[in-house]
Amino acid sequence: PKRPRGRQPPRVHAQHEPSSEPGTPSSEEDVAAAESDEQPEDYESPADKAWKARVDHAMRHLPRSVDETAARQIVNEIVIQGDDVRWDDIAGLTAAKAALKEAVVYPFLRPDLFSGLREPARGMLLFGPPGTGKTMLARAVATESRSTFFAISASSLTSKFLGESEKLVRALFALARALAPAIIFVDEIDSLLSSRGNAAGEHEASRRIKTEFLIQWSDLAKAAAGREPTERDKERGDASRVLVLAATNMPWAIDEAARRRFVRRQYIPLPEEDVRMQQLRTLLGHQKHEVSEEEMKELVRLTDGFSGSDITALAKDAAMGPLRSLGERLLEMSMDEIRPIRFEDFQASLANIRPSVSKQGLKQFEAWAKEFGERG
Ligand code: ADP
Repeated sequence: PKRPRGRQPPRVHAQHEPSSEPGTPSSEEDVAAAESDEQPEDYESPADKAWKARVDHAMRHLPRSVDETAARQIVNEIVIQGDDVRWDDIAGLTAAKAALKEAVVYPFLRPDLFSGLREPARGMLLFGPPGTGKTMLARAVATESRSTFFAISASSLTSKFLGESEKLVRALFALARALAPAIIFVDEIDSLLSSRGNAAGEHEASRRIKTEFLIQWSDLAKAAAGREPTERDKERGDASRVLVLAATNMPWAIDEAARRRFVRRQYIPLPEEDVRMQQLRTLLGHQKHEVSEEEMKELVRLTDGFSGSDITALAKDAAMGPLRSLGERLLEMSMDEIRPIRFEDFQASLANIRPSVSKQGLKQFEAWAKEFGERG
């Protein structure tokens, strides 16, 4: 089943660190402007300008095999930026966070320490039920490792851009190297690397995209392997600081050869009791509520089997409770007159909001994790 969740439109603007790339503008004027409170609408911070300069530089030095229009499209639609996600925003998942720090964040920040035997993996798979924080984790990795974040959903690659997809895949990898350190995050990777791929009657176009993706990914790994980079390698950017991070709700659909490329496979499970408690506390943290400690414990019990996104949906629905009984009267009421959120609101919402993963579905994840994964 596909996840029942809308994606936000990509925002153009990249997650990046102030850069020391050639051509980075930096002047006293920029600094003065940044400190001023009144900024014109078209104001660009020094970081924005530095980012633009990096993109321009990358676009001017694209390898010949890369299509410029495709590269432009990647920059506009795929390089995501928005509200940064940090480790602390994600409830629980301690083991997954630790694995990601070791596999990505530290190697990106201190490449000198992570060579030879400590060479980082080039790919990591996050798998588990929908809505458990896989996307949040990927975004946090990008933020915390100060990397450019390329987010692409595999189903959009195989449908929306059909025909252009191979060009886009090439452009994606080329830009990731040019704008390294970079994370290429592929959501729903199963639809790109599925084992249906081997069956006869597979769509020719999607087979080609899959092949191109695997080729680009191996090239990256080769370029990053522990040898002195050639001049050409250097020109194409820092392959050693590009990582493919992928997420899936259907890990069993990935074909075996592709699965093996993900040296690390991290299970992202449903939240345990203490994590649900922590998430509920965070969600209610800034709200006017009258949910007692005892009732919180009851809520934790009632949300057994809920994913992080189910819990968020539940809390949002419960928060509407105090307004629902008011009808139109809410238009005239002041903030103080609105009653606090109560346990009963949660009870009412629990009638509509049910866990998105069934017990049976969960067993399937547990079994796959046991056979192929690392525990989260
Ligand atoms: P996935 O990629 O695993 O399907 P997301 O990372 O997109 O799930 O999570 C969807 C939403 O659910 C998030 O935006 C957040 O509101 C909530 N959520 C899920 N997991 C967590 C978590 N561990 N901590 C806090 N919020 C979470």
